[in-house]
Amino acid sequence: MPPPPVPASLYDRAVRPISDPDVPQPACEICGAKTARPLFEIEGVDAPIVACTGCGLGRFHPMIDDERIRSFYPENYYGEPGTKFRPILERLVRAVAARHIGFLSRDVPSGGSILDVGCGRGVLFGPLADRGFRVFGVEANEHAIRGCDARAEVRIATRLSDAGFEAESFDQIVIWHVLEHMVDPFDAIAECSRLLRPGGRLIVAVPNFESWQARWSGPHWFHLDPPRHLYHFPCSALATLVEKHGFQVTSSHHFSLRQNPFGWIQSALNRFTRQPTGGLYTLLHQHEGAALSTTTRVGMWLCLVAATPLAIGLSVIAAWLRTGATVHVVAVKQ
Ligand SMILES: [Zn+2]
Repeated sequence: MPPPPVPASLYDRAVRPISDPDVPQPACEICGAKTARPLFEIEGVDAPIVACTGCGLGRFHPMIDDERIRSFYPENYYGEPGTKFRPILERLVRAVAARHIGFLSRDVPSGGSILDVGCGRGVLFGPLADRGFRVFGVEANEHAIRGCDARAEVRIATRLSDAGFEAESFDQIVIWHVLEHMVDPFDAIAECSRLLRPGGRLIVAVPNFESWQARWSGPHWFHLDPPRHLYHFPCSALATLVEKHGFQVTSSHHFSLRQNPFGWIQSALNRFTRQPTGGLYTLLHQHEGAALSTTTRVGMWLCLVAATPLAIGLSVIAAWLRTGATVHVVAVKQ
């Protein structure tokens, strides 16, 4: 059977809600439940997104095969070497990343080793190496790592367990908005437990599938990112998963200035306007933005400017209520 057509834009893919009866699923890797509720069907993808009736974990069912998943990441997904966004935004992304280093390197011993799983362009490597840490990365796509800091040791592997790192060789592992893209997130968390020294920290950031923003947006939720997100983790299910693999969750954080306000704006645009799905994100994306008309671009910039204060306010309230649109969980290996 020929592959279904792929939309012209990376992000403009229709998502439709479905209301079929619950379906059987293999025992959930997190809670063991054997049924799932169909939620959405995605344009160009044969499998629907379902949610586990026990823990709420979202996933394609059945899971899509590896070759098809690779087709969701054309070379232009990663932009030019070392850049993904428009230059001004790229500087902002790198500045935010540099500020974030303080959080990521807190409690890591001097000269310690840090592994970034799914490191992509490696925006964390330079600032971490500047602080004297030894930096390592794993990335599935060899195109993505062009322009990475030369001090980082980056290995190309689709699965973390195939990267060949030795047991207990890291003080900290970061999986930053990558777990939901993985074909084997459960094995990856188990592998992190093997790779970390006792007392080492695991930091995992994901979109929060049980968040207020996710529930309000439904099929229009920006952070669904169909079809690249293969799994959709409720924060509570993520905590259960890491605890199953020998970690103790020490904190979970529900505010992200970079992710959560933008999620409100783009999800609202997806829901209430006829503009292309993910159009604002596409506009901010270096090459794809050129395909939009001038009127669309001006309209979107105005929406972005006008809606940002409200979106930040909503994100602050959501964080206070512990229902952030994206979350990061910090867990210590016992
Ligand atoms: Zn479950």
